[in-house]
Amino acid sequence: MEKLKVPEPYSCGLILSYYCNCECKQCMYFGSPNWSADWISERDLKLTLEKLSKTIKHSPYGPDEVSLNHGLHFTGGEPFLRYDLLLKGVELANEYKIPSTFVETNCYWCKNDEITTKRFKELKEKGLNGVLISVNPFMLEYIPFEMTERAIRICNQLFERNLMVYQAGYYTQFKNFEFKDTLPLDNYKRLVSLEDLKRSVEILQMGRAPYKLTDWYNKYPASYFFAESCAPELVRNWHIHVDNYGNYMPGYCGGLSWGKIKDIDKLCNNGIDLEEKLILKTLIFFGLEDLYGLAASEFGYEELEGGYISKCHLCFDIRKELVKKTDRFKELNPREFYFHL
Ligand code: SF4
Ligand code: SF4
Repeated sequence: MEKLKVPEPYSCGLILSYYCNCECKQCMYFGSPNWSADWISERDLKLTLEKLSKTIKHSPYGPDEVSLNHGLHFTGGEPFLRYDLLLKGVELANEYKIPSTFVETNCYWCKNDEITTKRFKELKEKGLNGVLISVNPFMLEYIPFEMTERAIRICNQLFERNLMVYQAGYYTQFKNFEFKDTLPLDNYKRLVSLEDLKRSVEILQMGRAPYKLTDWYNKYPASYFFAESCAPELVRNWHIHVDNYGNYMPGYCGGLSWGKIKDIDKLCNNGIDLEEKLILKTLIFFGLEDLYGLAASEFGYEELEGGYISKCHLCFDIRKELVKKTDRFKELNPREFYFHL
C-alpha cells in the first residue's frame, strides 16, 4: 500500500467560512454571498486551533511579529461577517499560544472611526498580532475606498509595522486618483491600461480569475501544461489552509483535501493511503496529463475550446467536471467549492 506523509504545517490560513459579501473576479477561494453561510463551529474552532498550535511557527522577526508565510491567519470569505466568532478564534489562539497571528479583511465594515477603532483594538487586546488589508481593483468594485483608507489609517496607529497592506501599490495609486467610493473594473480600466494593470497586479492564475478575466491572458491547449508537476505545491509545510468544514488543504489548492484537521496526527505521522486519494496521487506522481487522461477516458471530459491560462485553470476545470459526474473522489472537497464560478 502506497502511503504519503503530509508534512506538519508551520503556517496556515484558517477559513472561517467561504461566505463573503463580495464576489471578486480574482478570488482564489470563490468567496461569494451565494455560498452556504456555514461558519466553523466553536467546537471545531477550538479543536483546529489546538491541533495547529503544535506545529505553527512564528515569523522570522519574532512571535509577536507577522509575515505572510508564518504563523496563523484568520481568513474567509470575510471573517468580520461573524465578528463574534473571529474574536473567539483570536482568544483561543492566544490561549494556545499560537504565534504571529493576523486577520485578513476587505474592510466592508469600516463605516466609521468608532466601530473600526473599537473592533481592531479589542482584537489586539485579545492577542491578535497583526492585520492584512486587501487593496486591489477587484475589491474596489465592492468596497468604497474610504473604508479601506480608514482601516489603514487606524491600523497604522494600532498595529504599526504589523499592518500589511496587500497590495500597497494600489493603495498609493487609489489615493492619487482621490477615489472615495467603489469603482467598476471597466471604469478603472479606462484610467489604467490593461497592459499596465496586468504588469502591476499580482494574481495567482487560479480560482475565479481564469473564468472572469478571460481577456487578460494568453490561452494554451491542455497539452501545454501536461509536463507540469504539482508535488511542490501539494506536499509543502507552509501556507496551507484549513476550512470551516475541517478540510486540510495543501497550499492554495482550494477544493482539494488531504483529510480532516482532527486527524492531522495520523496524516502527518502514519501517512495517507494514496489508493484512497486517486486525484491527489495522480497530481503528485504522474501530473496533469494523467489527470486529463483519466477525466477524458472515464468521465468524458472535453478540452475547453478556448484553452487554459495556467496549469491550475486546467486542473480546476477537470476537477469541476469530475465533481459534477461522480462523488467517488472524496478529496474533491468541499464539493460546493466547484459551484461558485
Ligand atoms: S477576494 Fe476576499 S473579499 Fe473578494 S470575494 Fe474573495 S474572500 Fe471575498
Ligand atoms: S494545478 Fe492543481 S494541484 Fe497543481 S498547484 Fe494548481 S490547483 Fe494545485
